[in-house]
Amino acid sequence: MFFSSFPVKFSSMDIIQNDSIGPAKVLQLYDPQSGLRGVVVVDNVTLGPAIGGVRVSPSVTPLEVFRLARAMTMKNSIAGLDHGGGKAGIIADPHTADLETLFRTFARMIKGIDEYIPGPDMGCDEQAMVWLQEEIGRSVGLPAELGGLPLDELGATGFGVVACAEVAARQIDLPLTGARVVIQGLGNVGVAAAKFFARKGAVIVAANDSRGTVYDPGGLDVNRLIAAKRGKGTVLEYGAGERLAVDEIFGLDCDIIVPAANPDVIDMNNVAQVKARLILQGANIPVTLDAEAALAKRGVLVVPDFIANAGGVIMAAMEYQRKSAEEAFAYITEKIQANTERILQKMNKENLLPRAAAELLARERIETGMKYRSWSHKWR
Ligand code: NAD
Repeated sequence: MFFSSFPVKFSSMDIIQNDSIGPAKVLQLYDPQSGLRGVVVVDNVTLGPAIGGVRVSPSVTPLEVFRLARAMTMKNSIAGLDHGGGKAGIIADPHTADLETLFRTFARMIKGIDEYIPGPDMGCDEQAMVWLQEEIGRSVGLPAELGGLPLDELGATGFGVVACAEVAARQIDLPLTGARVVIQGLGNVGVAAAKFFARKGAVIVAANDSRGTVYDPGGLDVNRLIAAKRGKGTVLEYGAGERLAVDEIFGLDCDIIVPAANPDVIDMNNVAQVKARLILQGANIPVTLDAEAALAKRGVLVVPDFIANAGGVIMAAMEYQRKSAEEAFAYITEKIQANTERILQKMNKENLLPRAAAELLARERIETGMKYRSWSHKWR
């Protein structure tokens, strides 16, 4: 088959640096016959086999996959899971690609990397996890009918974001009842966060997707928003409120922002516009490190991704252990709230940024584990 290629972005900026905990493996995949181009990063396996999603996107790069794999290492460690961190990327447009062919080929190419357990991420769903399961016998995020805990259907990550919000908002004396919330990226995570925030009495004042933003300072109706997004819909079909451009969302008047789409969406170019007092990172790496520091200087509390959005991977790990959805939700609340408390205490006591406090706690468990367990047992 003739294959018109997506260039794998691997510029001089894309250098992946090793440090004391990884990455253990970085693999670039290419199968010219199916058209598969991809990347797999196994970052650290001290705590157990690496769990992390497969992102399908035309723009995913090896460096992005590594950064996401590292975020999984941190997330799995601090969530108390017996899993290391990994991630994969398939370079394709999920709307137009033959996903079944790509996933089945991807599965066969990673069959031998059995210390990596793939899960769903942007651009794929539980169907893709079934293809992986059929090919290599390992994946998480299966449909309920096949023994899975469908984390997006259950809204595990958005549920965890709101559990995190309850603790973080208390820290800045912000009552959740009546708090004005902006959701950037109304997809799986964004929809669930919106639903669970509404149940706590918060008001969703704006939401967006890749096509635009809808804004109503008086509050948007969450069920109507979800209906507008159904199928190939967009928030722009909400039918009320003000329609704005995609990027206008960050400057809106609000108390809480949940970035729930792409990496690096709040950076030094737009950080000054942010009016919120609390940012909960529903997406992975949505705020650049310099922007996180700038926000902290202004007194904006930013809860990092691997604390705030751990609900999904906790649910996935529970599926792997054959636990029930009820057990998983209870663990998500308990773990995310305890971790939010722990990092806020450490941040205040040691005058650290929230991410630094969280990283120190996550690394502590891995580094102690590395003293006991040699990595090389994994490669035998
Ligand atoms: P999704 O594909 O369901 O939703 C993403 C949404 O973002 C879509 O509505 C899309 O239109 C929108 N979007 C895309 N580009 C945008 C842009 N430039 N501006 C605004 N909106 C844009 O994905 P998801 O599963 O909700 O995941 C979102 C993020 O959360 C990703 O970073 C993912 O890695 C992370 N995450 C997801 C989970 C999970 O359980 N699904 C768990 C942890 C982290």
